[in-house]
Amino acid sequence: MERESTLVDLSDGHGLHVAPAQPNCERLRWLPAVSRTDRTRVRAHTCECRTTIYEFCQAGGLRFVRRTVRAADGNRVHETERLIAARAERVWQRLLLGLAR
Ligand SMILES: [Zn+2]
Repeated sequence: MERESTLVDLSDGHGLHVAPAQPNCERLRWLPAVSRTDRTRVRAHTCECRTTIYEFCQAGGLRFVRRTVRAADGNRVHETERLIAARAERVWQRLLLGLAR
């Protein structure tokens, strides 16, 4: 599928790339990341070659997306709200496809 080949190109060592934001894409609510005591596991992440990295995280029974924008004066980290797995998975897929940002 052509769309998938633009998202994942393993031939040159790259990982997942998010698609450009589509017209009328859903605006996700990005909350400042707060340090919590619960353990966070990164289930998937986008390619390190981009300035903005997205990680699909799990903490306890809930999942969320963490966005890190790398800048010379420090990283800016935001997270979506924490959702049950099925809903969070949908947010992650829509993000990758450019349907949410
Ligand atoms: Zn890349």
